[in-house]
Amino acid sequence: MKYTVITGASSGIGYESALAFAKKGKNLILVARRKDRLESLKSLINELYKDLDVVLTVSDLSNPKQAYDLYNSLKSYEIETWINNAGLGDSSQVIQENLDKIENILKVNIESLTILSTLYAKDYADYEGAQLINVSSAMGYMVALGSVVYSATKYYVSAFTEGLANELINNKISVKVLAPAVTETEFINKSLNVTEFDYKAGVSNYHSAKEMAEFMITLYESDKVIGIVNEKYEFNLLDGIYPILRGL
Ligand code: NAP
Repeated sequence: MKYTVITGASSGIGYESALAFAKKGKNLILVARRKDRLESLKSLINELYKDLDVVLTVSDLSNPKQAYDLYNSLKSYEIETWINNAGLGDSSQVIQENLDKIENILKVNIESLTILSTLYAKDYADYEGAQLINVSSAMGYMVALGSVVYSATKYYVSAFTEGLANELINNKISVKVLAPAVTETEFINKSLNVTEFDYKAGVSNYHSAKEMAEFMITLYESDKVIGIVNEKYEFNLLDGIYPILRGL
């Protein structure tokens, strides 16, 4: 049995991606902190696709030790795809930022993502069909004032993932970056600390989480490294964006 791991599957892009991979017949290992949300998603998938196995794992990735524990707890599974989607944002000027929030963002968006990517790539570099997909952001290629910490974490995700993709270019694994722009999920509510952000009034364009999950599948099925939403809200597949320095 082969599995697809999705972190941050309890809501938004991760939730819809779990449904999209289930539709493609993939057994799933779903990770987040909110177990009740994961359980409802598992029930829905079991109803829709009776033959699939769905494994739930509760993990708090703001504690990087739990990233190691998560990976080690899954050692007995054959994992054909690993998607690091869990992430959180901020929406304030750096000098007004709460340092506890900054630490959480760094730990989830950078530290745990790096630990999980590295452990997976070490084990699956030469596994036929293996894929590692890291969810960055259009803000991983453009610094957003008012969300500088978040942008910088996503620059890290993009640079790390593009670099890893190039280091492993002659191995069997494919390493990819999904870079969404504004997508209707819980993300902006949590970033702005509001109960319900009004997308129609608040932004000129956005995607639904379901559309983003479809882009995730398009990237998964392509041989490109990057799937990015551009300023016109079009989804583009690219070989790479960051300059790569070889042979030091
Ligand atoms: P979301 O609805 O808030 O989902 C975030 C997911 O991450 C949830 O499942 C959450 O689960 C999980 N998560 C957060 N903190 C965690 C922690 N400490 N440990 C484990 N899991 C944690 O937001 P989303 O938009 O789907 O975000 C998914 C990814 O897309 C993120 O990496 C985000 O940066 C990226 N992105 C989003 C947008 C956008 O506009 N929505 C744009 C560009 C990029 P629990 O709370 O249950 O743990």
